[in-house]
Amino acid sequence: MAWEVVIGLECHIQLATRTKMFCGCTVGFGAEPNSTVCPVCLGLPGALPRVNARAIEAALALGTALGCRIRMQSVFARKNYFYPDMPKNYQVTQYDQPICEGGQLPVVMDGVARTFELTRIHCEEDAGKSFHPERHGDRRLSRVDFNRAGVPLLELVTEPVLRSPGECAAFLTQLRRLVRWLGISGGDMEKGQLRCDANVSLRPVGAATLGTKTELKNLNTIKGVERGVTAEIARQTALLDAGERIVQATLLFDAERDALEIMRTKEHAHDYRYFPDPDLPVLRVSAAQLESARAAAPELPWDREARYRDALALPAYDAQVLTEARDVSDYFEACVPAPDAASVKLASNWVMTELLRVLKDREWSVADWSERVSAARFREFLGKVAAKELPGPIAKQVFAWLPDETGSVAELLERHGIKVAGGADELRPLVRAVLDENPGPVQQVLEGREATFGFLVGMVMKKSGGQAVPQVVNQLLREELAARKHA
Ligand SMILES: [Zn+2]
Repeated sequence: MAWEVVIGLECHIQLATRTKMFCGCTVGFGAEPNSTVCPVCLGLPGALPRVNARAIEAALALGTALGCRIRMQSVFARKNYFYPDMPKNYQVTQYDQPICEGGQLPVVMDGVARTFELTRIHCEEDAGKSFHPERHGDRRLSRVDFNRAGVPLLELVTEPVLRSPGECAAFLTQLRRLVRWLGISGGDMEKGQLRCDANVSLRPVGAATLGTKTELKNLNTIKGVERGVTAEIARQTALLDAGERIVQATLLFDAERDALEIMRTKEHAHDYRYFPDPDLPVLRVSAAQLESARAAAPELPWDREARYRDALALPAYDAQVLTEARDVSDYFEACVPAPDAASVKLASNWVMTELLRVLKDREWSVADWSERVSAARFREFLGKVAAKELPGPIAKQVFAWLPDETGSVAELLERHGIKVAGGADELRPLVRAVLDENPGPVQQVLEGREATFGFLVGMVMKKSGGQAVPQVVNQLLREELAARKHA
């Protein structure tokens, strides 16, 4: 029988706030274990939580970007369960009244635009972290670090609308781009800033009802999501083809062994006994708050990508690369030397190839680069390249000096003793002299021997002491030759 795959994702987005969800403890990596904790995030009796306003702003920013319905009143609930890294024995989350409902994420896959429907986005707090060194033969001792307990998360849940592992990867890639673009999360899956669980089920093609689903946890890279979901689809297909039934279960994907491990089946499922947290009031979003979230909403990456293609006439590849990260895109826009298509494409080429290569080689952010090379300074450089005032090799050399030296292009050239004879006024007398001195080759070119044209270019370059811009020499030679032909 042919089976249709049905997948829904639950994504946890760790927010890049300064402090935790319900207390003033600092959020940060690398702190001494159990050093950024207080009575609130340790769940000590009598401690009272307070909502982090920045986390709510992040929820509104994401909900606005994804076209969700925003609830003006939402409720924090306690999800009760015991786990060693959860000091309160409950997690504060949102249950039946989440802050955002509906919405959709647009994704382009293999050139085809798709949108994936969302169920909801809600705010919650993270748990701590357990370490089990005894598993690796260290000591017979497990340790727990509560620094992460209480760190703000947004949980985004999709409708069961994904149909393949590739769609899951495309969805997560787009979500990661968006949360980084909005500046609400680092989005780094390997650091746990973006985590994903996948609900996977199969049903006969054409069936209206959903099959029994399993939940895959521990998917901590985009590749891991793709491989884990692929493995689970294969497992379920084999069972169904053999006439067996799927048991509802939670599975772990072991990326190292590329294998699935059944963690628990439905019989052991939790009853979380959700109830509204009595210590937290109803979360109210004011009309002014919602309005300011909408006003602060940036142009979204996929809208900007479309604008680069349609209004700036950039190739689809350029538009995609330039809008991968907002800082790169903003810098690119600030350094385009002129609005014509050639100048835009020139700026795109320099940013995509040369600039991104330097960032990679030096492990710099765009901020590191622009501290040394302001967009105005780079625009001046690109303007000179666009005006053909810098020959290719000299342009490359000047570019290499930009981050390590100060000064304008003219100052850099002077400091290094490089003269560029770029102006037509300066070069035209040289061109005329070369034509006067070489009547034979001129005659040959006029008769159509293109090979001899290069000889004339070479003669002008030589006369200029190697400081002329070849493109300008070419153009002037063509003009002067045309004038002689018609004379
Ligand atoms: Zn705390």
